[in-house]
Amino acid sequence: MDRFSILQDEKRCLVCDTTQNIHTHEVFYGRNRQKSIEDGCCVYLCGRHHNQSKYGIHFNQELNLSVKKTMETVWLKHYRKTIDDFIERFGRNYL
Ligand SMILES: [Zn+2]
Ligand SMILES: [Zn+2]
Repeated sequence: MDRFSILQDEKRCLVCDTTQNIHTHEVFYGRNRQKSIEDGCCVYLCGRHHNQSKYGIHFNQELNLSVKKTMETVWLKHYRKTIDDFIERFGRNYL
């Protein structure tokens, strides 16, 4: 399944807006990685803001949590669901 994003239309880094060296990141990763792929809970990030520096989302808990909150909000709207639905699917609430 091709990964897509319900948050972004264009493949630009969510943090710095560059179009160079774009990676696709599953926002709810680990055991929820596959569900992120199915639901389009992916974001585009440059390598630096993904996992190629300490500023990347995989090493920066503040950025990680902030993107999870944004994605939960977008998911609720996009699929017209409730927070309980979100918890049922992804195991917890980030809001
Ligand atoms: Zn970036
Ligand atoms: Zn990632």
